[in-house]
Amino acid sequence: MDRISKSLRSDVMRRVKSKGSRLERLLQISLWHRGIRYRKNVATLYGKPDIAMLGKGIVIFVDACFWHRCPEHCRKPHNNQDYWHEKIEKNKARDLNVTEYYIQKGWTILRFWEHDIKIS
Ligand SMILES: [Zn+2]
Repeated sequence: MDRISKSLRSDVMRRVKSKGSRLERLLQISLWHRGIRYRKNVATLYGKPDIAMLGKGIVIFVDACFWHRCPEHCRKPHNNQDYWHEKIEKNKARDLNVTEYYIQKGWTILRFWEHDIKIS
């Protein structure tokens, strides 16, 4: 991999990541204001849900449009197509696997696209 595409890639990653975490925070703040108590980024649960309400058996995932291939917003970069394709397909496969796991357990699993979360 050449130097330019490497720096471009890390630049894209940085932007996408910081945007995702900001949106997760907005959702968390919104739940908190509604009196809904939760734990966030629960590493002990499968797939590390962004938000979990343990007593209620509810987990919430916020899927970044880019990383999880949102049909509306995921535009693959022109460079390193193979790299991105593989990475995003892996994420999709893991998403399905995680969803299936919680359904099997009888839990409620909610998935939001990052574009579903709006400031209001
Ligand atoms: Zn989207």
